[in-house]
Amino acid sequence: MNINKNIVKKEKNGINYIQFKPLLDLNIKHAYTLKSDNLIVKTTGYAGTINKEGYKRVCSAIELNGENVVLPKLHHTENVKCIDKVYEHEELEDIDGLITNKKDIILATTNADCILYLLYDPIKKVIGNVHSGWRGSYKRIIENAVDKMISEYQSNSEDIIICICPSIRKCCFEVDEDVKNMFTQKFSFLSNIDNFVGKGEKQGKFYIDTVGINNELLKKKGIKEKNIYDCEICSFCNKEEVHSFRAEGKNFRVATAIISL
Ligand SMILES: [Zn+2]
Repeated sequence: MNINKNIVKKEKNGINYIQFKPLLDLNIKHAYTLKSDNLIVKTTGYAGTINKEGYKRVCSAIELNGENVVLPKLHHTENVKCIDKVYEHEELEDIDGLITNKKDIILATTNADCILYLLYDPIKKVIGNVHSGWRGSYKRIIENAVDKMISEYQSNSEDIIICICPSIRKCCFEVDEDVKNMFTQKFSFLSNIDNFVGKGEKQGKFYIDTVGINNELLKKKGIKEKNIYDCEICSFCNKEEVHSFRAEGKNFRVATAIISL
């Protein structure tokens, strides 16, 4: 796995994880878990229940209290919720993005190929955690998260830092023509959409660069390019270390991204 200038890779208490340098520099506790011995944060894939022991291990590795994890039931929606208390997993149906300005709340999401975004506004002290698979990217959830930081917490878009966790990238995200057409139609307003959607290597297959499309949307929202920090890790290319639904199949496990003020 290539460790670029935006991230560091660590191991503590048997938990392997990466962290983003700009968030570390600003003292924001966070982690994205890599494959680790016996670590289970959900019982099964996306539908399973939260594994509190797993979360306690992850949280203790970065000195957080694992009791305060808020993990919604992710469902590939565009829905982003402001969090002001510790909700149970079962209480948050159909939520794929979380935002808070409260300390001692840990915002969590999980993935296996989908994009997870960690957001931070260092001026208004607001954090976010967003799950955006191809469906969430199609529904433009990352824009909803930025809009909510602006409307609910008076953030300015030029202050917001965006960190992009490991996900399946354009090198491996092969789709059929119907999904390709959905994206070219939906994002036809992007003058450079052809940079992000194209013919795959196999006959009748196509690729989509969902990270690239979302970056364009973020820049249109006023996010500064220099404030977007991408780990540039493809989950499928790095399936030895990163959870990948396409690599692991129906018994896949998930990684988690956590962040707390
Ligand atoms: Zn790849």
